[in-house]
Amino acid sequence: MAWLIPLADLDLDESEIQAVTQVLRSKWLTMGQVTQDFERRFAEHIGVKHAFAVANGTVALHLAHAALGIGPQDEVVLPSLTFVATANAALYTGATPVFADITSLDNLTVSPQSIEQRISPRTRAITVMHYGGYLCAMGEIVSIAHEHGLAVIEDAAHAPGASIGGKMAGTFGDVGCFSFFSNKNLATGEGGMVVTDRDDLADKIRVMRSHGMTTLTWDRHQGHAHSYDVVALGYNYRIDEIRSALGLVQLGKLEKNNSQRRWLTAEYQRLLSVIPGIRVPFIDHAGLSSCHLFPVILDSQVNRQRFMDCMREQGIQTSIHYPPIHQFSYYRQRFGDQAGLLPLTEQVGLREVTLPLYPGMTARHVELVVDAVRLALDRGMAANPAPDQHKG
Ligand SMILES: *Cc1c(COP(=O)(O)O)cnc(C)c1O
Repeated sequence: MAWLIPLADLDLDESEIQAVTQVLRSKWLTMGQVTQDFERRFAEHIGVKHAFAVANGTVALHLAHAALGIGPQDEVVLPSLTFVATANAALYTGATPVFADITSLDNLTVSPQSIEQRISPRTRAITVMHYGGYLCAMGEIVSIAHEHGLAVIEDAAHAPGASIGGKMAGTFGDVGCFSFFSNKNLATGEGGMVVTDRDDLADKIRVMRSHGMTTLTWDRHQGHAHSYDVVALGYNYRIDEIRSALGLVQLGKLEKNNSQRRWLTAEYQRLLSVIPGIRVPFIDHAGLSSCHLFPVILDSQVNRQRFMDCMREQGIQTSIHYPPIHQFSYYRQRFGDQAGLLPLTEQVGLREVTLPLYPGMTARHVELVVDAVRLALDRGMAANPAPDQHKG
């Protein structure tokens, strides 16, 4: 479908084409100098000691769990209002995901109180996800983790460049994980990054990323090594030079594009906050968001399907972030029906809609979306005429 305004769009130009072409001409495609440069620049950018580029954000999360030694006897407390990979990564290690609720309909990040309530003697780690690029309450969450002797993993897939008090997403916990999937703020198609300040975890991640081997093909090509040992159960979770070259160029555009996203978000907030039938979360968020998503919550008397259909008819792509993980068939079959356990998450699962947001948008695009929202709200309310007592 040719959208008038798509949900997301990439900022790619001649500089990415040049960078990728240069790698192809060099004939060195697997991890080498370009990947090392990408890792170093990314680490500098967010202010962390170690950064390891990997194949995607999901394996970044798996490596984080594996490096922390999380396994079958352990529980990991994490939000249900996130992409399924956040919880799958815990499952890969045999650990059990335990879902915590979000803070409120105005703050869709995981609630520190709910996290604390879910902690058991088996809990080993807390995984947070900076929803939409808005930082979780990391001060509170890190102190809960310290009190209970737990590790903190940050799923920062939405949040490259997000910060509070000058400290960047991904640097608050023990390990931070980023995704460079096509629709993320920094996009390489597939790709990801694991970051940590802990030397012990860095040593494990470095080895586990590449089959548990002590040297890389690159090291041997450089003449730095002739052979290798295998010292851990590792994986092939490597990135390649083509994607790292893309990533380097995209990293150079990140701050400019994030600030454009923030400006567009402020425009949306200004225009939408006066429209009845809709609420805009994160209006009074304290930190500097990377504004990956622009989520809104429809009033409960608005029929969301009708709303989204009407947006589509007007050429505007919308999405849902997220269908809660604990309500997916696989998770219900495996862990039982937990309906009612996460009331706020379930409300958002029913009432959230994500509107288009990408750096190439203009103020005119935002106005067009907001006009379309007005009509879609009328349609959505007409479809559900009875007032709902659960409103709020
Ligand atoms: C995109 C995303 C991931 C997974 O990243 P991939 O690179 O697609 O594997 C994990 N968590 C969240 C919150 C994401 O948005």
